[in-house]
Amino acid sequence: MPQQPLSQVPADAIWDWQEIGSCREADPELFFHPQNERGLARLRRDRAAKAVCARCDVRIDCADYAIRAREPYGVWGGLTEEERERVYVRIALAQFPRQRGEGAVAAAAEISEAVSPGALGVVS
Ligand code: SF4
Repeated sequence: MPQQPLSQVPADAIWDWQEIGSCREADPELFFHPQNERGLARLRRDRAAKAVCARCDVRIDCADYAIRAREPYGVWGGLTEEERERVYVRIALAQFPRQRGEGAVAAAAEISEAVSPGALGVVS
């Protein structure tokens, strides 16, 4: 398992998108796993958080921020910790997206897949 990166708040970070995030009305515990949560419990909680993110108007801004910050914890923009970790591993640290919007571009495929029917556990 790759080492968790340290979170680094981008210099150009803005937070106004958080004001209209769908999670403002949700239980915060949905987005951050309790200690030692594993297996089906974790999958169900992650999917429930993803379902909130899937209907969020600022999902791309949120995912962009989380990728650029190398946010290690929680579900952001529909991306779980493990899904973001795969992005962190894929992109060399020297080329890591830091400017606003670059995170969304660098992780476009993962952000799109994050709230797909398969990722939400919806059988089509
Ligand atoms: S994408 Fe998800 S975590 Fe981000 S603001 Fe929206 S609901 Fe909250």
